[in-house]
Amino acid sequence: MRPLSADRILQIWEIGQSQHPIDRALTLLTFACPDRTAQELASLSIGQRDAYLLTLREMTFGSKINGFAECPQCSEQLEFAMNVGDIRIVELVEPQAQQYSLVAEEFELQFRLPNSWDLAAIVGYQDVGAANLQLIERCLLQVSRDGVAVNYSELSASAIAQLASQMLECDPQAEILFDLNCPACNHSWQVLFDIVVFFWKELSVEAKRLLREVHQLARFYGWRETDILSMSAMRRQFYLDMVSDG
Ligand SMILES: [Zn+2]
Repeated sequence: MRPLSADRILQIWEIGQSQHPIDRALTLLTFACPDRTAQELASLSIGQRDAYLLTLREMTFGSKINGFAECPQCSEQLEFAMNVGDIRIVELVEPQAQQYSLVAEEFELQFRLPNSWDLAAIVGYQDVGAANLQLIERCLLQVSRDGVAVNYSELSASAIAQLASQMLECDPQAEILFDLNCPACNHSWQVLFDIVVFFWKELSVEAKRLLREVHQLARFYGWRETDILSMSAMRRQFYLDMVSDG
């Protein structure tokens, strides 16, 4: 994996404008992992995808994460800081199909973990329950009872619920919750950290900042965009300081 250069940040930002977050995540990883095929990256479990994205974020913008939240009780605006290392709870693994098994009631289940293809398949669903069931059905590889294969439709609701929680347990990075406490009213609650949304916001801010830098330097010195972007951030800043000093 390689960090995102200024030039690649702009390319990704441009491509991602018209993309769904699932595809934005894959665009980011495609640029970061040129030795992986798009197929391989899309086959990463969602937890693994997010661990890769956290690592890429760390390589590109550093390990410190600053976030904002609003207290659901008193609307106080909170600022919080954490490190990538605090929320990346799994090691990165090679993209490969892994099979898991679970015994739920009288059923033996073989399953895999949800990946980007699976998320893409449920994008159009309005009903969260139906979407989750579809996700589980897609990831279920085999169901048997007493060694005899049976149909998915024979599974009881509680066996499906056990499978859903087992899937999450096998892919803990897929859902990162952290605790917040409001200093104004002392209310405590949990927030879901979505690295795709978070990283994309940061990347958009950075892309616009880079474009402004190109604009200033190109106007002043007449340099080409590619030349300006290929400079180190330190060198660009040095010239920008001189431009603003007049
Ligand atoms: Zn509060």
